[in-house]
Amino acid sequence: MTSPPRSTLRERLARADPSLTVPASVPVAELPPGVRIAHVYPGSMAERAGIGVGETLLAVNGEPIRDTVDFYFHGADEELSIELESEGGERRTLFLRKEVPEDHLGVEVEQFVTQHCGCNCVFCFVHQLPDHMRKSLYVKDEDYRLSFMQGSYITGTNLKDSDLERIARQRLTPLYLSVHAIDEEIRRYLLGIRKARPFLELLEFFRRHRLQMHTQIVLTPGVNDGAELERTLDTLVSFHPSVQSIAIVPVGLTKWREGLPDLQPVDRAYARRFIREMKPRLRAIEQRFGTPLALLADEWFLIAGQRPPTYSRYPDLPQLENGVGMVYHFYKDFAAARKRLPVSLPRPWRVAALTSTLSPPVLQKAVDLCHRCEGLTVDVLPVTNTLFGETIHVTGLLCGADLGKAIRHNPFYDQYLIPGNCLRKYDERFLDDLTLEDLRGQTGKLITPVLGGSQDFVETILEHAAGIEHQPPEEHPFLRTHWANS
Ligand code: SF4
Repeated sequence: MTSPPRSTLRERLARADPSLTVPASVPVAELPPGVRIAHVYPGSMAERAGIGVGETLLAVNGEPIRDTVDFYFHGADEELSIELESEGGERRTLFLRKEVPEDHLGVEVEQFVTQHCGCNCVFCFVHQLPDHMRKSLYVKDEDYRLSFMQGSYITGTNLKDSDLERIARQRLTPLYLSVHAIDEEIRRYLLGIRKARPFLELLEFFRRHRLQMHTQIVLTPGVNDGAELERTLDTLVSFHPSVQSIAIVPVGLTKWREGLPDLQPVDRAYARRFIREMKPRLRAIEQRFGTPLALLADEWFLIAGQRPPTYSRYPDLPQLENGVGMVYHFYKDFAAARKRLPVSLPRPWRVAALTSTLSPPVLQKAVDLCHRCEGLTVDVLPVTNTLFGETIHVTGLLCGADLGKAIRHNPFYDQYLIPGNCLRKYDERFLDDLTLEDLRGQTGKLITPVLGGSQDFVETILEHAAGIEHQPPEEHPFLRTHWANS
């Protein structure tokens, strides 16, 4: 694979904003205590006690408070002795008693600085970025607190003994761990590091302390497939119920791989063969444990040109954000979508649903439903990802410029639907820094993100085509990824 010339990996990573992470060598559990109070809720116990924004919370009940996790853990007690430091450096201690045990103190503390990742994974997306993207995208974080709070994946390679003690003591479970391979040499190669605590030690630790983990294997053809994948699966399933799930996701390779190891991409033939070989293996695991412990990401099926499985028998999809069950989840509210659809529209309405190149079949059922409504036409427009390359087919990595190009080439629609997961939630910004407002301004078109499943797809159209009131979902299930939010 040839890549356009660009700056060296070291130069690119040097662009990361250093204020966003702490070095990987610093054990999180040994960080100095003190979190700044960012907000005090009116009428709260904190306000009544005179606690103010800007004060630093040093300890609760004698326990140092290093971050949000400590704050919630120790703040759950009924009686609280709170040590505070003012902005001028004066210290005081308050004694508070909750009226009901479920009460909260009523403050928000500042978000902690995340820990930097010390790995150099051969498939790391940060290494495969083009030049000149925003600084936060070059940040590689690996922080078990984020894994616990947001479900982001960690390798566990920067966990010190003090961190593990804290995880066990505060019951920070489940965590999300990238395994990739159980063979230490292969794992170290994939993670791009020379030394790491054997993953088996982590598995034993989790089992001993009755902690749970969701795991992932980024499948890299020719490296951790075949017999090595068998060994990895055998080991992980033997640690059930500590290991709660195993997601196998295909490696993603962008066109920006100059100077990086030569890796084989997952193409259609490979994906088909892989699915065929894995199906009986995964079925056997499911029969043995009564639960689908090991699962393939939907992307395998989309690359193979097949329909991803449905998961109607299972109440929870723990690896949804890793793309396992995403398509099934999109159609979970299909009955509600059907109910919302009127027989006809007051005027003809043409919609273009923009999506990644592999996703048109995913939307087909929703499109067919829309066509039952007289006057409504929906066409699916696949958008090639020129920012990262044609081999990247997930919707979350579509950028504003590519969407804009597709809209300009197809100017005759009344409305353009775009996947909500390619926007950063809090400022509606695409990965290439264009905002949704920019895109609307540049094209002069009605562009609306779809944030939820098929019901939201239909209602987003009806809101504009027929003036039907629509409340978009508060949180898109796939918005919390590192990429969408960096
Ligand atoms: S893929 Fe994740 S763990 Fe690996 S180098 Fe990148 S940020 Fe670190």
